[in-house]
Amino acid sequence: MTNLYSFCSFCGGTLVTEKQHFKCSKCSKLTFRNPAPCTAIFLIKANKVLLTIRAIEPFKGMLDALGGFVEPNESFEDAAIRESTEEIGFAPTNLEYLCSFPDTYLYQDVYYDVLNVSFASYMDKDIEFEPNDDVESVKWFKYDEIDFNLVAFDSVKKALKFVKQKLK
Ligand SMILES: [Zn+2]
Repeated sequence: MTNLYSFCSFCGGTLVTEKQHFKCSKCSKLTFRNPAPCTAIFLIKANKVLLTIRAIEPFKGMLDALGGFVEPNESFEDAAIRESTEEIGFAPTNLEYLCSFPDTYLYQDVYYDVLNVSFASYMDKDIEFEPNDDVESVKWFKYDEIDFNLVAFDSVKKALKFVKQKLK
């Protein structure tokens, strides 16, 4: 795996791991290893939760939550609404904070540290979703119907335990 932080962005010197950050071997400036914020949103309808089937790597074909990376100048809530709109053409309005878990995301041979913040949103009517973007399709699941071996990310597996409490 490639290390995301190999060289100092100030002077190009080699970075050395020091606790939770990196120190430049030439200019001594620190590079911080902050996780990338990302968000998951779980639509809930009575006793069911909506999960997606991933259209792209990593974990293509596996189960995931709606959501994705927070962009500059966005709140977690804004990101959750934007991602849901991009992925299924539906903008949830009543977000409820559920939980947050650290995780990793493998992309182009690099493991990125992420911090996944999860929300629930409740709906009572049927809506025709339009899967798009990195979502192949979506499906409603009762909790007991979810095969956790097919869930792509650990943070989503952990968040689903919180979702369980919210299902009727
Ligand atoms: Zn440097």
